[in-house]
Amino acid sequence: MTDLRRLRETERWLAWIRVGGVGFAIFQVAVAGYYPKGYERLAWITTGIFAVGTLVLLVLSRREWPRRTQVALGACALAFDFAIVSAYILIYNFQLGSPIRQVIFVPLVEAALRYGITGALGLTLASAPVIAVFEWLRQRRFPPHTYHVNYVTLQIGLEAMMALIVGWLFVRLRREGNIAETRAAEAERLRDQLGRRADVLEAANRCARALSSSLELEQAFDAFIREVRGLVPFDRVAIVLSEEGTAQVMAVAGAGAGRVLPPGSARPTRGTLLEELLRTNRAVYRRDMQHAEYPEEEEFLALGLRSRLATPLLQGARTVGMLSLVRREADAFSTEEIELTGLLGRLVASAVQNIRAYEAERRTVEELRRLSALRADFVSLVSHELRTPMAAVIGSARTLQQRWRELTATQRESFLDLIAGETGRLATLIGDVLDTSRIEAGTFSFRFGDVDLGDLVRDSVATAELSSDEVQVRAEVRDPLPSVRGDHERLRQVLMNLIDNAIKYSPAGDDVEVRAYAEDGRVRIDVIDRGPGIAREDQRLIFEKFGRVTTGNARPGTGLGLFIARSIAEAHGGTLEVSSALDQGSTFTLDLPVQS
Ligand code: ADP
Repeated sequence: MTDLRRLRETERWLAWIRVGGVGFAIFQVAVAGYYPKGYERLAWITTGIFAVGTLVLLVLSRREWPRRTQVALGACALAFDFAIVSAYILIYNFQLGSPIRQVIFVPLVEAALRYGITGALGLTLASAPVIAVFEWLRQRRFPPHTYHVNYVTLQIGLEAMMALIVGWLFVRLRREGNIAETRAAEAERLRDQLGRRADVLEAANRCARALSSSLELEQAFDAFIREVRGLVPFDRVAIVLSEEGTAQVMAVAGAGAGRVLPPGSARPTRGTLLEELLRTNRAVYRRDMQHAEYPEEEEFLALGLRSRLATPLLQGARTVGMLSLVRREADAFSTEEIELTGLLGRLVASAVQNIRAYEAERRTVEELRRLSALRADFVSLVSHELRTPMAAVIGSARTLQQRWRELTATQRESFLDLIAGETGRLATLIGDVLDTSRIEAGTFSFRFGDVDLGDLVRDSVATAELSSDEVQVRAEVRDPLPSVRGDHERLRQVLMNLIDNAIKYSPAGDDVEVRAYAEDGRVRIDVIDRGPGIAREDQRLIFEKFGRVTTGNARPGTGLGLFIARSIAEAHGGTLEVSSALDQGSTFTLDLPVQS
């Protein structure tokens, strides 16, 4: 309750008590019986004034006065009551032994009610002359006409004690009242605050649900932005992720959404507000973009936007992007909104983390599935690759054993050739499998020395030429080639694998070319064929373990050759790449560093 309201209520209550007092006074004056001459008139005049004053005060107390007038009215009312009571006390001095003096306690309590202890003590002081005069009148009227000072002091002393006790009571009461009111107001404020918090939490919850509604970042962000509108109003909002030096706009809504930095667009992070966020990991509040500090702000100003709140998307202590809210008015964000946006930033960041983790997981699962399929292919392939030459070897050996005498020398020779060829294939296959497992175990060993790649190329081509009748292999070595530090045998293995593949995939009558040359401090060897080529999407696969292209012109093989070849090239600090397209032939390039 406000102080003014309390004053008004007190005044009205006292006005009604006064009305009761008038009735009581009329009764007392009327029944007093004996009056000395003139006293009855005085009593009735006083009562008349009392009645009129009471009426005036009753009317005045019902009006809504401003505070100052209300205070003055209270003071006047107390003065009036005191004057009336004093008049009655002095008039009724003629009644011997009357308790009329006690009437003074009424304005005393009133003063305590209005002004506490000070008021009550003040009234005690003011009543002292009245009590003194009353005692004087009394001693004049009644024998033995002695002035009893102690009567006066007793009365005043009683009044003072009463003032202290009642005044204290009222002071206490008022203090308690104030405390209760403050507490009630505080409780109300807290309740409102709690209500607001609950609303905010509910909305934040909806935002979180929106973010988890999809496992696609863009969809999740769009749903989130729809919910944010109800929580922190904006004229434009954007979610931007930082990806390798670029600011990737993931979702945008509001002013200029389709024109200025639309979803899917990317810009270098350098110089932008995002760069600042990435550096400080703290929100940036641009109260007014009037003096554009970041390049993108010019565009926002052109859209009529003035204030911008950018909060980092924090994953732990690392910023992965930002949530940016923009408004048309300058300095338009409150502290609460800034805090809330910080919370939203964290929600978005954890959604980004979850969705990315899920994507990584999904990729891993796909990769594992692919690898397991490759392995299954390999098992059936190896068993097939082993069984065919094995069957040929066993068949030839049996024939030779059973029909040795019937066979001519040439026939025996060709059976023995077949056995040698097939066991050679078996040995290569087993060698590849062994090499692969050594590469994986990290025990693949090299014997490094100086290697003359020119010689190596010429040598490998000559060997290949010998075993290939249908495809011509030519070597073109641009001498002088600097020598390379490497393992001669392993490099030969690489070259042979590339040349064998080129022959294997070339149609009969075609040429395979092997070029060796030095360039930019490196030696390059190109193995070029005009075979079926390799589709772009398969070019990664063929270098993987067991990686083979099984569609189209598939030839027997294990898919290990290129995996081993690339591993060897990398162990030499070099690379092995392919450049090819379907029906365009293939060029495999072995690139090795020249020793310094
Ligand atoms: P393999 O030849 O034993 O299958 P590689 O690792 O040597 O194993 O080759 C992997 C795959 O790469 C082959 O299965 C083939 O599909 C493809 N490939 C390799 N060389 C060529 C080439 N010169 N032309 C077309 N395809 C090739």
